[in-house]
Amino acid sequence: MTLSPKDKGGEGKCLHCGQTREEIKKYKTFCATVTYEGETDCEWPRHRFKPYTAKELAAMEADEEEMLKQMQGFVDFVEEQEKLEKINSLS
Ligand SMILES: [Zn+2]
Repeated sequence: MTLSPKDKGGEGKCLHCGQTREEIKKYKTFCATVTYEGETDCEWPRHRFKPYTAKELAAMEADEEEMLKQMQGFVDFVEEQEKLEKINSLS
């Protein structure tokens, strides 16, 4: 099974049972799926996560850079406003 990068919902979830890393850590669950009756359907020796591809890592990095740029833009804006306020209060 291959997941396209569009499958954002599948990221960080076990490929077998669909639990997130946080859930597994919190509840110390083992890797299995259950039937409607609550019986164990399939079991795996360990959880399996999709390794990030180079493309996904690059996309994440680009997102982070974009976020930093936006944050810096906001900081610049606030500083500019403060400067203007000071100038206005002097006149
Ligand atoms: Zn699992």
